[in-house]
Amino acid sequence: MKKRITPFECRQCGCDRFDIIKEYVSGFAYTDYYECQCGRASRAAVREYIDKAFYQSAGPLREDHSFTLDETAKITDLPKESREFDIFCQDCYNQAEEEELKVEVHTLENEEEEVNFFVRCAGCGREIEFGWSEPGRGELIWPVESVDFLPQYLWPEPRYFDRWVQRGWFKPLTVKVNG
Ligand SMILES: [Zn+2]
Ligand SMILES: [Zn+2]
Repeated sequence: MKKRITPFECRQCGCDRFDIIKEYVSGFAYTDYYECQCGRASRAAVREYIDKAFYQSAGPLREDHSFTLDETAKITDLPKESREFDIFCQDCYNQAEEEELKVEVHTLENEEEEVNFFVRCAGCGREIEFGWSEPGRGELIWPVESVDFLPQYLWPEPRYFDRWVQRGWFKPLTVKVNG
């Protein structure tokens, strides 16, 4: 019989190696404009758009539940938004040379970025549910399919939250205030 050296065991294929994958969307917001020279408008033409890309990094989950992710790789640019100018002064817009275009770059607000973590079996690639050792996705990762899984000490990955509550798994100590 094969000796298991990690606490992990995939229910489907028996593999004892799990990988952590972090995926997120990030980018910048742009405002391009031509100035109005005649004074009829503050800007002759303005276009605003967001450029986003999809990023991924990954690394193996160690037997002590820690992990280190490799360098983030840009996987793909997301579809571009339409880039039509809103025109406020047609004359100045018509006369503007392309090199007069001004560009402002803004970082995106937090709510415009989304981060997802996944645990995948290295053998069959299945997604495996998991929790974190600290609130706010802190520190260590405990997959459900690990022999030392104790949900009462863990915080669920946010997309599993409802499931954990239904199963009675999510019982932070702070709930006991009135009890
Ligand atoms: Zn003008
Ligand atoms: Zn598997």
